[in-house]
Parts: sequence; structure tokens; C-alpha cells
Amino acid sequence: MPEVPVTPLLDGRALAERLRVESAPEVERLAAQGRRPRLAVVKVGSNEAAHSYIRGQQRGAERWGIEVQVTEVAPEAGERGVRRALKALNDDARVTGILLALPLPPGMGARTLQHEIDPRKDVEGVHPENLGGCLYGRYGLLPCTALAVMALLEESRLPLRGKEAVVVGSSEIVGKPVALLLLAQDATVTVCHKFTADLALKTLSADALIVAVGRPGLIRPEMVKPGAVVIDVGINAVPDPTAPSGTRIVGDVDPSVASRAAALTPVPGGVGPVTVAMLLRNAVLAARGLPSSDDFGQMPLFQS
Ligand code: NAP
Repeated sequence: MPEVPVTPLLDGRALAERLRVESAPEVERLAAQGRRPRLAVVKVGSNEAAHSYIRGQQRGAERWGIEVQVTEVAPEAGERGVRRALKALNDDARVTGILLALPLPPGMGARTLQHEIDPRKDVEGVHPENLGGCLYGRYGLLPCTALAVMALLEESRLPLRGKEAVVVGSSEIVGKPVALLLLAQDATVTVCHKFTADLALKTLSADALIVAVGRPGLIRPEMVKPGAVVIDVGINAVPDPTAPSGTRIVGDVDPSVASRAAALTPVPGGVGPVTVAMLLRNAVLAARGLPSSDDFGQMPLFQS
């Protein structure tokens, strides 16, 4: 009987662990100099999703040897209160990285508040100065999910130069920066969004297909070129009566795409853990101090 080819799943948990191990000597070097990375998490009000996000970050940071402090802001303090807290953390030399826990209470604008974070402490890489770095090739603290996508593509060993890369989803923090980083690696990039007329026509041309939409099952096997590398960024909770919580997490790509792809990221266990690792790696880079603007442009995409 002919052997059925097995699509390798790109193991995000293993890559995240490798990133931790690679960063460990730098964390210890900084600690020996009295500059252990210290991440301040700003939490506004009490919200179970934000709580569990913070708990997750705390657990990860502990393993990396990164200190975490939580600053609580009462929702009644409004956006002005959050701005005040962020300013105090920007001015605090002991704090080397800042993270605004989401979701915020209704009526507060996450994007404008994130822009109040000092770009040198912006571990999520969402400040306009850091996002602008993607455009100009001046890589400071890059957006962590986009970094995770690029690192997983590197894991797949697909050489991107001259290849067709299709990004489905064009958000500011995932789709657009991923497209710019792919362009910087000399791929030919197509970006799709909700007005893309024939999505399958575009996705079928992709050697590298990156999907970041938030719609379970959006990408089916017949939409994928045989041998493509597929990176599934989506996180969707779908009903599952067999799960204790009543839901389970799936991506945007139907798992049966594995029958066509050369490599595929699982959900969970793909992009998610690498995104967390990239945030913590940004926290280490921020503590180390970013290079002066003169050094930008000569830096590789992934600073070591
Ligand atoms: P977002 O801001 O809602 O952006 C979604 C994008 O998808 C938009 O550009 C939208 O187009 C596009 N879109 C909507 N329907 C579409 C369709 N039918 N065909 C093609 N494109 C369509 O979401 P996001 O923050 O980028 O996140 C996307 C997904 O990734 C979510 O599931 C999120 O939970 C997940 N995520 C995962 C991680 C991780 O670590 N794994 C990190 C971040 C996000 P328009 O621009 O035209 O509206």
C-alpha cells in the first residue's frame, strides 16, 4: 500500500520553550547587573477574561525569570486614570516593560490607551512607533503575534524569497504587520479582507498562507495549494458538549487542511504559545535596552 504523507504540525509549545531557553542567559546577565526584566501589567476593573490573561502572563513570566507587578485602576477613574497610571509606569526606571490587560471596561479605547505606553516599554509592540518600524525596517519591539507567525514560518523551513504569501485578515496588530514582515523577507504578498471577492482564488495561490480572521472553518482543504505552509492565527471558542466548559478552542483553518499542506500550525498549541513567548522575549529586549536608531536597518529580523 502506498504510504500516506503525514503533514508535520508546527509545534508552537516546543518553539516557545526554545525561545525561553535561548533568552535565559540574557535574563541572568541582566539580573546579575541588577536589571532583571520587570513587567508591569495594568488591570482596569475586574473582568474574568482580563484576570485569566494576567494569570497566564504571570505564570509565563515566572518561568522566564521576569518579575511582574500588577497595577490596578478602578474603572471609575476612566481613561484619564489609566493614562495617569501608564505615565507613572513610563517614568518608573525599575519598570522595563508595560502591558495593558484587555479587555477594558466598555467605553474605554484600548488602542488610544496603548499608545500612551513608552514605545521602549511597549512589550506588545503595538505603539505606532513600533508598528511604524515594520514599515521602515527599523525593528524595535515588533508586534508579538506577527513575530510568532514569522518564527513559525522559519520553523517550516520554507524559503520566503520569491514565494507567494497570502495573508487573510488585515488588522493593525496581526494581518498588516505580518504582510510587511513577509515583504521584508522578499515574498510576494497578497492581503485579503472581508471585501475580497474570491477568497479561494487568492488562497489557492499561496505557498505560505497566514489566516487571522476569527471565523472557525473559514479555510477548507480545497482552498489550499498542495504543499503550502499554513499558519492559523485564529482563536475561536465553539460549543462542545463533551468539554467541561461546554466549549473548545479551534482556529480559522479546518484541521482537514492537514491533508493538503506541507506544514500546519495546530490550534491550540501553535501560534498562541509562541505569541506569549514573543511578548516575554520583547520584555527581555526592552530591559536590555533597544539599539540606537543608528543601529536599525543593520539588525536581523529576529534580534538575538
Ligand atoms: P480583527 O481585528 O477582528 O481582524 C479580523 C480581520 O479579518 C479583519 O481584517 C477583517 O476584514 C478580516 N475578515 C473578516 N471576515 C473575513 C472574511 N470572511 N474573509 C476574509 N477576511 C475577513 O482580529 P485580529 O485581532 O486580527 O484577530 C484575528 C483572529 O486571530 C482572532 O480569532 C483572534 O482571536 C486571533 N488572535 C490570535 C492570537 C494568537 O496569539 N494566537 C493573537 C491575536 C489574535 P476587514 O478589515 O475588512 O474588517
